[in-house]
Amino acid sequence: MRILIVDDCPTTTIHMCGLLKQAGYPKTSVARDYCQAISMLHAAAQRRQPIDLILMDISLPGTDGIAATLTIKADKTFEDIPIVIVTNHNEESILDRSFAAGASDFIVKPVSMIELRARIRSVLQLREEMDKRKMRERELEALARKLEKMSNLDGLTGIANRRCFDDALVKEWVRNGRHDTPMALLMIDIDHFKAYNDTLGHVLGDDCLVAVAEGIMASIHRPGDMAARYGGEEFAVILSHTGYEGAHAVADTIHTNINGSNIHHPHSYAGHNVTVSIGVASCIPSCQTTPAQLLTAADTALYRAKQNGRNRTEVVCLGQTKR
Ligand code: GH3
Ligand code: MG
Ligand code: MG
Repeated sequence: MRILIVDDCPTTTIHMCGLLKQAGYPKTSVARDYCQAISMLHAAAQRRQPIDLILMDISLPGTDGIAATLTIKADKTFEDIPIVIVTNHNEESILDRSFAAGASDFIVKPVSMIELRARIRSVLQLREEMDKRKMRERELEALARKLEKMSNLDGLTGIANRRCFDDALVKEWVRNGRHDTPMALLMIDIDHFKAYNDTLGHVLGDDCLVAVAEGIMASIHRPGDMAARYGGEEFAVILSHTGYEGAHAVADTIHTNINGSNIHHPHSYAGHNVTVSIGVASCIPSCQTTPAQLLTAADTALYRAKQNGRNRTEVVCLGQTKR
């Protein structure tokens, strides 16, 4: 418990140091004016031995006690240090100005032992409660940030969820529309996944979904790219600044990565391992088209990939796009 006495009268400071020592607060330091006080506060903070309480005389040479309190309280580093004003006069106007400046309490000179101890205790109690409240606020803020993050993630695979995807689709739509650049959408569906689940069970089914999500994530690298679990065994990928050719190349990488995962599928007609079908659509966002149309086009392409034998990519054109 470190106390800083700010007072220019040596008799008073010697008296107060003595009282504080008797009251059980031996770690006191003395500043003769505001400038010395502020440099001592900084030095204590740098040593990581911050001041816990300031006893501030109201009449100081240069900056007076009220102005000093105001300045210290305005400083983010020191705003939480309680300041008790020590004054010769308990005139209401002076006390009013002291509290308005941010003082927590006041003591009238000559300072008595009982009063000093009582004031210090109540100020420190207040400070403790304030610290606890601030810590709870910080914990709640951290929890809110964590929940916000969780609400955007799929619980099983850890990649973005449908809600996050819907937001990103609109954002990328607006962004690419503004720059007159194409964007692409990939709809990805695991082939014969019902048979996989029915034969191997839901636990291995879930593992497979995680592996497929990893295969997709390993295929996208650009800052504007995002992959999400769209629902069930269906995934979606948004590729910013990308036309058909680029989107097809990413789809090829996804096939390669998922086939390369070597997840054995006992009942697939599309291969021995787990495979996916991919539908690709791309467009330059404009007022004539909507994100929903891009989604429908990618869905139609996915349907075609399924119809044409699965484990493949099909493309549906949605207007003219440039690379
Ligand atoms: P297709 O090749 O035409 O896509 O056939 P499919 O069997 O993959 O498609 P269908 O829609 O008939 O079956 C999808 C299956 O995905 C049904 C369900 O058991 C499974 N599935 C959906 N969500 C989950 C999940 O979260 N975990 C597991 N283990 N399975 C899921
Ligand atoms: Mg499927
Ligand atoms: Mg499906």
